[in-house]
Amino acid sequence: MNTNYNSDEKGYYGSFGGAFIPEMLYPNVEELRRNYLKISQEPEFKKEFHSLLKQYVGRPTPLYLAKRLSEKYNTKIYLKREDLCHTGAHKINNTIGQILLAKRLGKQRIIAETGAGQHGVATATVCALMGLQCIVYMGEVDIERQAPNIARMKMLGAEVRPVSSGSRTLKDATNEAIRDWISNPEATFYIIGSVVGPHPYPDMVARFQSIISEEMQLQLMEQENRQNPDYVIACVGGGSNAAGAFYHFLENEDVKLIAAEAAGKGIDSGESAATSALGKIGIIHGSKTLLMQTDDGQITEPYSISAGLDYPGIGPMHAHLFESKRAEFLSITDDQAMQAGIELAQLEGIIPAIESAHALAVLECKKFRPEDIVIINLSGRGDKDLNTYINYFKL
Ligand SMILES: *Cc1c(COP(=O)(O)O)cnc(C)c1O
Repeated sequence: MNTNYNSDEKGYYGSFGGAFIPEMLYPNVEELRRNYLKISQEPEFKKEFHSLLKQYVGRPTPLYLAKRLSEKYNTKIYLKREDLCHTGAHKINNTIGQILLAKRLGKQRIIAETGAGQHGVATATVCALMGLQCIVYMGEVDIERQAPNIARMKMLGAEVRPVSSGSRTLKDATNEAIRDWISNPEATFYIIGSVVGPHPYPDMVARFQSIISEEMQLQLMEQENRQNPDYVIACVGGGSNAAGAFYHFLENEDVKLIAAEAAGKGIDSGESAATSALGKIGIIHGSKTLLMQTDDGQITEPYSISAGLDYPGIGPMHAHLFESKRAEFLSITDDQAMQAGIELAQLEGIIPAIESAHALAVLECKKFRPEDIVIINLSGRGDKDLNTYINYFKL
């Protein structure tokens, strides 16, 4: 049996992944492919990366034993507190890594696409930090829905370019970013925000996010005198926080991995983003993976109450983890996630991002033993979701 869950040299996870790109993009992607491992393994790079993670992002993030939550579910639950990262979520781990790569490749211009605006903010943040030009493509519909994040990006000095083609959402913004990259190949670096896109992006992003499980192992050793938990649970949009949380446990099958996807209003409601349940093999964003699409291959518009899980595909690593059954995929509805979100607030005094609340909702769906150690990756904080919480609970 193939127990390798990382990408091979061509960027394949089992039959998923690869680099399906227009010929005009080949030089850019090839430049990155040739250099990403070499540069990111240089001692100077590692030193700068880890120093920024520590001094700027605030790592290591705590591994917090949630006592009241554990009591309620009669098992031992730890929360990995990515919500305490600078800018409020795990996304910054990746953008720091990519901006350091961009600088070493001599790029002066950074582009990104964003749906909910979270990745746009994380990218604008590191561009300000490094003094690089930042252009963020965003669909017009998303711009309307995410006003505070537009303000954040502008305040950080980024230019937000509205995209008016197609459904005016994330996939259209992605197309525009790719078009920009083709037109400006020399000076531009394209920062992708999840473990998606053509090789080497999924592997590169997973490596930058793998700091999450690296810290989990050290912290669990300190607190429990063992390196491995029984379960790791994370939500999956594109899959970057889950990839980071799973990374150092992938080869150890004693550690069970659970991925929580957004079922939206229900798998069969037509308003969902549960890709493993509904997706079929297709190509999105330059990568062969599972994808929600119509019978003739048109990408379907996903829906979730949480903007960050509202993505029509999953990264190729997760498609492979699903197909090989290395990870269990559970679909969590809007209602289940919202209940789990308010429960965490009232049991532990932590208001989670609604994305992260999908991972928390797994506690209601699955029975754990009292002696199990369960780590839930709390990918982000809920401040950005306050309006959604207010409207849902009539607060
Ligand atoms: C963007 C985001 C996600 C989803 O992205 P992944 O790449 O799947 O991690 C999850 N949680 C938070 C808080 C986010 O901002």
